[in-house]
Amino acid sequence: MDVRLNNAVIERAPAAGLVDGLGREITYLRLSVTDRCNLRCFYCMRDDVKLLPKADILSLEEMERLSAAFIRLGVRKLRLTGGEPLTRPGVMSLIRRLGERTVTGELDELTLTTNGTLLGACANDLYEAGMRRINVSLDTLDPLTFRRIAGHDGLAQVLAGIDTARAAGLAVRVNMVAMSGINDAEFDKLIRWCGNHDCDLALIEVMPMGLAAKHYLPLEAARSRLAQRWSLTAVDDSTGGPARYWRVEETGNRLAFITPMSHAFCSGCNRVRVTCAGRLVLCLGDGAGVDLRPALRSSEADERLEGEIVAAIAGKPASHHFVDPRFRAYAHPMWQVGG
Ligand code: SAM
Repeated sequence: MDVRLNNAVIERAPAAGLVDGLGREITYLRLSVTDRCNLRCFYCMRDDVKLLPKADILSLEEMERLSAAFIRLGVRKLRLTGGEPLTRPGVMSLIRRLGERTVTGELDELTLTTNGTLLGACANDLYEAGMRRINVSLDTLDPLTFRRIAGHDGLAQVLAGIDTARAAGLAVRVNMVAMSGINDAEFDKLIRWCGNHDCDLALIEVMPMGLAAKHYLPLEAARSRLAQRWSLTAVDDSTGGPARYWRVEETGNRLAFITPMSHAFCSGCNRVRVTCAGRLVLCLGDGAGVDLRPALRSSEADERLEGEIVAAIAGKPASHHFVDPRFRAYAHPMWQVGG
């Protein structure tokens, strides 16, 4: 950012970075671009959810401005999520503009989490815009289980979308929320499918939102069982997130385990989230946060916005409270904050 002094433009020293009160450097922003979704996964979004009024949702221009502020302050990785981000009209224009920042080197990575239903039509554009890796949520390979989980059909579109993404050059990690009694008999099938389609797979512990709590499945035991059937070699690849990776020697692809419930990884947390309504969420498993929309809408200058971001991040909670039974009362809805 530049400042003017006696009409001379003086370059301000680069921002020192976003560091919270515990010394954790925040370099990763997950931005939810919409609370709308074309699926209704029961563990995320009930059928009767109250969607936000459109006026509360940030415009694409506001989202770009907000992202730019975070980038100036030190964010290097930006993930778009939702709701389903690809349902937001005009989202490709935001993606193109943010993608330019990967070309200029302001961002190391722009990426996306999607349910994959609309990927077939967008994958080439995502690659053209500068994306190289995406996460696609896919909990089952069975059409009936898909409908049971997501409330709609769509498996064939998702599978075709993943193939189109791979053909476009995008690396794909399939995210599978592991749920006892729902899809826990399908882990081997997904590992094999991902091997055949050259994708990584992440198994994710279900968090106690929505109707999900009764299907919680600790993944350490699942990993031990899988290790009896697959040759799993620990790899220390980190994608800047909480996933711990193993190589499946039979397929050559990676298998990750994301275990927010059984193993907290908060001490190394490098991320914050912003909802589609502009609320900065400091931790997915905590109510803390601040509404950035007034700062965005009250002035075209960014000083107040940046000041509020820096001040809020200083108070990022030490750890999540997913295991606290009262957590549901203050959890941010997943479909607004984006997982
Ligand atoms: N619509 C996009 C999608 O389906 O990937 C992005 C939004 S979705 C909220 C982001 C991620 O959150 C998905 O991988 C989804 O499976 C995950 N998710 C939602 N509710 C969850 C829960 N209760 N426990 C664990 N993961 C959850």
